Amino acid sequence: MSIAENLHKIKQEIPNHVSLVAVSKTKPISDLMEAYKAGQRIFGENKIQEMTDKHEQMPKDVQWHMIGHVQRNKVKYMASFVSLIHGVDSLKLLKEVNKQAKKHDRIIDCLLQIKIAEEDSKFGMSSHDAKALLTSEAFSELKHIKITGVMGMATFTDDEQQITQEFKRLKTVYEDLKDIATANCQFQTISMGMSGDYQIAIQCGSTMIRVGSSIFGSRNY
Ligand SMILES: *Cc1c(COP(=O)(O)O)cnc(C)c1O
Repeated sequence: MSIAENLHKIKQEIPNHVSLVAVSKTKPISDLMEAYKAGQRIFGENKIQEMTDKHEQMPKDVQWHMIGHVQRNKVKYMASFVSLIHGVDSLKLLKEVNKQAKKHDRIIDCLLQIKIAEEDSKFGMSSHDAKALLTSEAFSELKHIKITGVMGMATFTDDEQQITQEFKRLKTVYEDLKDIATANCQFQTISMGMSGDYQIAIQCGSTMIRVGSSIFGSRNY
């Protein structure tokens, strides 16, 4: 099936309130353009350099989501255009995003990455640390960022029960934190679900799925 066909199929499967991030990392511009022409406007990348290069080449109405782990020293390269940063996991990083956003007179939306997987390899904060961050005075001073929800990745496993449990954990964390509604914290997004598990994620309350290989085919690194 073509990229356009894959996209249409997924779009038909998912409810209207769930947004689809087309994860285009490692894929050439021609592939992204095929998705664009099929109506896709949200693209996700996991490397800042690659996202910046693609941003320069793609039409300007594309919304760019940074879904990977963010190095603080590279925030400056995407601060002028990134529309959502999914993987924020520290106050230190938020302060840098705030500083760079201010230079461009912007407010950059961010999600807090929560660790929900059993595996040690996955990044993310505990719900306890996330709550402490969102209620801290230092956080309240950051006027150029807005936390709009949480992001998480389930363990890479065939065990659907385990995946379900981990996604439900993220939904619980979301519900717990969303009452902290302040000027720069307004929850509306739960980013969870990838090619292999987005149906489960939607059942567990996902509002944003990040799908790569089911749209663009498998990646050769
Ligand atoms: C690569 C990636 C995805 C997409 O993975 P697929 O299995 O190809 O759908 C989603 N989220 C993150 C954080 C990724 O790095």
